[in-house]
Amino acid sequence: MKESIGTTGLILNEPLLMEKGKKGRCGISLPRRDVENFPLEESLTGEGPDFPDLSEPEVVRHYTRLSTWNFGVDTGLYPLGSCTMKYNPKTHEKQAALPGFAGAHPLLPVGLSQGVLRLMYELQGLLAEVTGMDAVSVQPAAGAHGELTGMMIIHAFHRSKGERRTKIIVPDTAHGTNPASAALCGFSPVNVKSNERGVLSPETVAAVMDEQTAGIMVTNPNTLGLFEENIKEIADIVHAKGGLVYCDGANMNAIMGIVGVGDIGVDVLHLNLHKTFSTPHGGGGPGAGPVCVKKHLEPFLPVPRIIKENGAYSLSGDFPDSIGRLHGFYGNVGVMIRAYAYILSLGAELKNVSRFAVLNANYVKARLKDTLHLPYDRPSLHECVFSDKKQETQKVSTLDMVKRLMDYGFHPPTIYFPLVVHGAIMIEPTETECKEELDAFIEAFQEVVKEAGENPQLVRDAPRRPKLRRLDETFAARHPCLTC
Ligand SMILES: *Cc1c(COP(=O)(O)O)cnc(C)c1O
Repeated sequence: MKESIGTTGLILNEPLLMEKGKKGRCGISLPRRDVENFPLEESLTGEGPDFPDLSEPEVVRHYTRLSTWNFGVDTGLYPLGSCTMKYNPKTHEKQAALPGFAGAHPLLPVGLSQGVLRLMYELQGLLAEVTGMDAVSVQPAAGAHGELTGMMIIHAFHRSKGERRTKIIVPDTAHGTNPASAALCGFSPVNVKSNERGVLSPETVAAVMDEQTAGIMVTNPNTLGLFEENIKEIADIVHAKGGLVYCDGANMNAIMGIVGVGDIGVDVLHLNLHKTFSTPHGGGGPGAGPVCVKKHLEPFLPVPRIIKENGAYSLSGDFPDSIGRLHGFYGNVGVMIRAYAYILSLGAELKNVSRFAVLNANYVKARLKDTLHLPYDRPSLHECVFSDKKQETQKVSTLDMVKRLMDYGFHPPTIYFPLVVHGAIMIEPTETECKEELDAFIEAFQEVVKEAGENPQLVRDAPRRPKLRRLDETFAARHPCLTC
């Protein structure tokens, strides 16, 4: 096979620390004791943890070696679609670690928290400006949490009008969390199908929209990486029957500063700061899913809200129609600091983030569309979706091909999602990849497809080069081993 990044090198095996320890070995030299030996009480000398005895280099090498087994966006291209695994400027980690922020405690009186409150207040204003919405709460801790907040706001809005609506329309190109969030809030999700262009038709919505329906949840751009071009018309249909429009804006990376979400009929929107606005995503770390609303929904936003009076910032719970509190304290402030720094450092350049994200995805699509089957051949936004249809005759599947990509040093893209494409391969390169990196990824994929034609067994047996070969994912999911 052609060599590329990550395909050669020294991969060191590493036993457990427990297996490495040798009695009497020590990482530090303590000064000679100058007091007499004193036997400890029986109860203190009993069974304690059996820690291994190790030298300093053994410990340092152990953890350094383990860290090289991990793959992250700092190691290479991470082309997962729908997730925006992008490289984020390291300088924002520094801003978040400034002592004034890192040392702030949520129980400090507001008089001593003016800086943090100002940052949160101004961030809300900046997010409103970027999205074209009227009011923002940065409290929700993740995208799905933002969706739940949005659903609760929609519920509260209808209740304030003395109505109890029970259904929410969710298209098949919405993110998987959308129907779950609607259901968690007590709504019944009504699934509708996207059309042959991969987007939602106004007629489809008109056919199901009624007075029992609270609204619609649209992921825009949707999970096919396509812009829901009929959104305005769809919004008019939903509004005409008294419903509201929720937009899942986790994919803002594609339209930031370009589409005024507030101008296309959206009433409530969530963002993922940990996808679009400079907090590293993945590993289950803290995130933030701010919710942005139009004026008529502002009274329902979560409390406490940050208010500014006579130049001073404070927290107020005095919003009687609010849906209440959704997070201990005020949300994940560290994430907000990164987002604030990101928006201010880019300013009007923010638009270019989206332009490059879209350009890169379309470049990958254009260069791979003769190699892989492209179910929706039209300009996409930040991601593109292929399938394994062309490899069917060779009996090589999406899973086989992306496992083989690992042998070429690339993390697999998202697979088998979105569900509307059979055998989906969903690639989101993000704006932070340069042309050389994209070319190397594309060429590796082309090589894999060539191998699928010439030697399908090779691809079916992949990966061969990583430390572990093909895992039995079904077995792992059914019998999780959480202790080893
Ligand atoms: C990631 C994502 C979500 C969920 O966000 P979390 O922070 O993981 O809860 C929702 N919708 C879309 C479109 C997403 O990409």
